[in-house]
Amino acid sequence: MNNIKYFDHAATTYVKEEVLKEMIPYFGIEFGNPSSVYSIGRKAKRAIEEARHKVAKVLNSKSDEIYFTSCGSESDNLAIKGIAYAHKSKGKHLITTKIEHHAVLNTCKTLEKQGFDVTYLNVDEYGMINLYELENAIRDDTILISVMFANNEIGTIEPINEIGKIAKAHNIYFHTDAVQAVGNLLIDVQEMNIDALSLSAHKFYGPKGIGALYVRNGIEFEKIQDGGHQERDKRAGTENVAEIVGLGKAIELAYEDINEYNKKLIELREYYINQVEKNISNIHINGHRTNRLSGNANISFLDIDGEKILFELDKYGICASAGSACNSGTGEPSHVLTAIGLSQEAAQTALRITFGEGNTKQDIDYLIDVLKKMK
Ligand SMILES: *Cc1c(COP(=O)(O)O)cnc(C)c1O
Repeated sequence: MNNIKYFDHAATTYVKEEVLKEMIPYFGIEFGNPSSVYSIGRKAKRAIEEARHKVAKVLNSKSDEIYFTSCGSESDNLAIKGIAYAHKSKGKHLITTKIEHHAVLNTCKTLEKQGFDVTYLNVDEYGMINLYELENAIRDDTILISVMFANNEIGTIEPINEIGKIAKAHNIYFHTDAVQAVGNLLIDVQEMNIDALSLSAHKFYGPKGIGALYVRNGIEFEKIQDGGHQERDKRAGTENVAEIVGLGKAIELAYEDINEYNKKLIELREYYINQVEKNISNIHINGHRTNRLSGNANISFLDIDGEKILFELDKYGICASAGSACNSGTGEPSHVLTAIGLSQEAAQTALRITFGEGNTKQDIDYLIDVLKKMK
């Protein structure tokens, strides 16, 4: 990746070579439509089912509980709208949090316009929800709880096991946006009582524009796009075979050495935080100190001009993020940093560094040198 120092793996990742290699035939000689009955069609169908099996294996679900979609955002839409529409006769109340990705937040906003009622849970200074507040928010007409597995801006990991238990005890469905978690954390939808889960390949070294949704068998959800009967009649449109194959390969590779990967990322993260603490004054570490994604470090640099920080870093070939990629450029403080109680100033000087495969300690030394110059 020439001279670019890439510290923005929560925004997206490159596609691993082995992943790309598996995808390529499906753009060419294996171009059949998986709905076709002749051999190249059947071959494409088989490739999709193999990928589905790989996803199911990682989540500990059944293969026929996995639906391929076009991205993490679509998975969130399909899960939340799909479950809400199918169960609205039982109730019209949903519970989520103030720190969700916009794919969840704006889906909930749309549902509110359609007559649903949504409770947005607060989080503490570390970005954790309060389980008592969750239990207290539950009403007779609550049909769905949607809480993200891990936050994309500050990396905080939510108490998923406990949320799953509460949801189950109250007979309410539990969806989690696990787009940042898949490829980084171990997930078991059985043990964790997760009823629906969203994931996206481009966050774990797979291609962009392909996602998946797990929905537990027996839970009804409405499709949100009309058309053919693909994906067991839940997601119309000819399957994106090459990208589905890529997603399957990427998720398989991600979990082959997940412990090693996490060890490496924690080492990089801790090295970075220590170097910042040693070299730069007037900083604030955002999110939970340990209960966070291995590769995430979100720090406010109160003496550095937050408006310029990303452009200045870019001059040195450094890719990073302020708040979340979706917020960059709007100038508004991120809703996540606001929700954890940061001052406007602290929110606007926050720098999100997310480490990945290719990063080294030398890269971090270079980053620290550049940050020191910016004061
Ligand atoms: C990236 C991301 C999404 C959106 O996924 P896309 O595939 O880009 O649509 C949703 N939720 C979280 C937490 C994310 O990090």
